[in-house]
Amino acid sequence: MKILIVGDGAREQSIAHKLSQSPSVEEIYLCPGNGGTHYIQKCKNLPPMTQEELLDFSVETGIAYTVVGPEKNLMEGIVDLFHQHNQSIVGPHKDAALLEGSKSFAKDFMKRHHIKTAAYEVFDDFHNAQEYLKTASYPLVIKADGLAQGKGVEIVENYENALTILTEFMIQEKFQDASKTIVVEEYLVGKEASIISLYDGNHIVPLWSTMDHKKIGTGETGLNTGGMGSITPNPHYTSFMEEDFNRSILLPTRDGLSQDGLGFQGIIFFGLMMTEKGVYLLEYNLRFGDPETQSLLQVLSSDLHEVFLSLLSGKLKDTPLTFQEEGAACVVLSSAGYPLDYKKGIDITDYFRLCPEGVTLYAYKSRQESGRILSDSGRVLSVVASGNKDVATDKIYRFLEKVRNENLYYRNDIGKI
Ligand code: ATP
Repeated sequence: MKILIVGDGAREQSIAHKLSQSPSVEEIYLCPGNGGTHYIQKCKNLPPMTQEELLDFSVETGIAYTVVGPEKNLMEGIVDLFHQHNQSIVGPHKDAALLEGSKSFAKDFMKRHHIKTAAYEVFDDFHNAQEYLKTASYPLVIKADGLAQGKGVEIVENYENALTILTEFMIQEKFQDASKTIVVEEYLVGKEASIISLYDGNHIVPLWSTMDHKKIGTGETGLNTGGMGSITPNPHYTSFMEEDFNRSILLPTRDGLSQDGLGFQGIIFFGLMMTEKGVYLLEYNLRFGDPETQSLLQVLSSDLHEVFLSLLSGKLKDTPLTFQEEGAACVVLSSAGYPLDYKKGIDITDYFRLCPEGVTLYAYKSRQESGRILSDSGRVLSVVASGNKDVATDKIYRFLEKVRNENLYYRNDIGKI
């Protein structure tokens, strides 16, 4: 079978790698893929395409199904377009994609279906928001309603602080339309976990818990990033938390999706806060997370292609998932300066050349030029290994000690805090 994957990051490379291990998969096309694709068996890059061109390609090439990495394509309705032409695709239709694309839509859905989440208010009027914030108790969380690449969430300590953020979001329209409406949320104290799950329209099947490291600096300090590393399983996700998650979040989400007619075949990523009062849902993402997917697929021993086929036919329940290894870790190398100004065109060929057995590399957006691989984005490489968090990170850091490049940065405490 032939499969199409949309996206150019390390997440899509790891999905391609896992699919390539299936005996039933003949060819995998990545659109546009990146400079690391040719290290993965059966994989080919395609030139950048519009959604209509992707559809044509899928029909003409006889693609069995398409997997979409980035949320942007989902919000733009790629799933609706493919379905109109009877093409199989893993992901939510546009209506359901709003659960990720609009925080107020997601919070209202959670409230309506009694899903455990932080108390909140929604405002689309600056003065109403200002009045509310004058008498509120702090700290609070202010969130831009729409997608802002992880930058639209601010924790505010007092009214002055809140007013500054409110002005930036609503008056100065820092994120254009995305911050015209805001969500003000109760501040929760705890540890975070991400649960990536498969959803076949009837059942939601969670994979292992993961933990990601969002900040650029050691000790979880400094600016937010797309993610600097991940481990699976998440050591803080106890069986108590798991039971609470199943009861208070997963089951009411499943029922809510069906009651609201929002069912789809795809991925549900639950962003959780684990507090003294159990698990709260912070957000839904309706696609695989990056860098959580890289460590998660490392421990999945089921044939991912068979898993996608059963997901697409609504039969996940009949396909038990298997996992091997004690766990896995992923450390992300970024271009020095990221997430602010950073250099592109960093030569990362040696990492692939010197990568030892037991360590797997996935490139982010990058290109091939005269046999070299040159970086083209802020995050540059995902380095993945199996084992419990100490064993896995040890393998990764030993490799990274050997191949040094002063243009690249990584956190040396992934899985250690
Ligand atoms: P964007 O839409 O800008 O991409 P996002 O989808 O990542 O942002 P959230 O997941 O809702 O936004 O929040 C980002 C981070 O902010 C969370 O991972 C968490 O660390 C923190 N956060 C969000 N809500 C709360 C809360 N109620 N209490 C404490 N921390 C929170």
